[in-house]
Amino acid sequence: MLSDFLKNNNRIFKLVCGAGNEDAEEVERLSALYSKAGCKFFDVSAYPEIIDAARRGITKSGITKERYICVSVGIKGDPHIDKADINRNLCIKCGSCWDVCLQNAVYASENSYCINNKRCIGCGKCRQVCPAKSISMISKSSNIADILPPLIDKGIDCIEFHAVSNNEYEVQEIWNKINSLYSGVLSICIDRSKLGNEDLLARVRNMLSIREPYTTIIQADGAPMSGGEDDYKTTLQAVAAAEIFQNASLPAYLFLSGGTNSKSSKLAELCGIYVSGVAVGSYARKLVSSYIKREDFWTNDKIFNEALEIAKRLVESVKNP
Ligand code: SF4
Ligand code: SF4
Repeated sequence: MLSDFLKNNNRIFKLVCGAGNEDAEEVERLSALYSKAGCKFFDVSAYPEIIDAARRGITKSGITKERYICVSVGIKGDPHIDKADINRNLCIKCGSCWDVCLQNAVYASENSYCINNKRCIGCGKCRQVCPAKSISMISKSSNIADILPPLIDKGIDCIEFHAVSNNEYEVQEIWNKINSLYSGVLSICIDRSKLGNEDLLARVRNMLSIREPYTTIIQADGAPMSGGEDDYKTTLQAVAAAEIFQNASLPAYLFLSGGTNSKSSKLAELCGIYVSGVAVGSYARKLVSSYIKREDFWTNDKIFNEALEIAKRLVESVKNP
């Protein structure tokens, strides 16, 4: 069970396939690769077919023991469930969005560049570089009561709620609903982008007040959410948020996410932050993306094994910084 796994392990590597990533083939490949590399905890978007894809990948890795799947759900306004949208009338076809998109979610069409919604994870990098201001972010909202039951029926191990909003009432209402529908481990993914330190802590305390001790993960998220380089700087915000929760001695497991990379576990250690896990998303995907998108990914052992060595090093960097 995930609760035992959390109790008995530190510095767990969690692969984040992307809360907004609906590309089943990519999720299957990532799950296969990282499961074989030693990852035991997988975070996927809240769609039954994506859970199936992750399971297929784990099965293909040949190791199914102690493999746990978490689905991520967000609140309207949470960037993790945003999708980029290009106004074709404004686009000047400079290609800058294509250059920066780590998800390969941008493609050129006849008259402008376009977004593949299934691949877009809402990181916003394309919008930042667009000289024509033709990209906006569209926030998707879903009714938790509608989307959770079919996911829970799939036998998931954890639900992660991205509690990034300044609407306290709405956050608590959705949290209560999740708690009423699901009795397993829950994760609160939260950052400092919309709340000051005191309000952040008050929100998490309030959310934990209806939970049994150590049945919840607090995932201290960085902002911006996607890491680029493999340096210490990208995780500073996540570590700063984690420090708030650690100092409060909350009865929950502490994870880091947001800009995480091979240095994150070490940075936490250097700062005296003791994490139960590090969730790595963009960086983990970027490291192996040239392998993942190859047609011979499943059939070319040399290619798979090269990617596997890269994935293993990243998993190991979290466990043994
Ligand atoms: S850069 Fe980020 S927001 Fe833009 S299309 Fe790619 S994944 Fe989506
Ligand atoms: S960056 Fe903006 S102007 Fe350039 S191709 Fe992308 S959408 Fe068009």
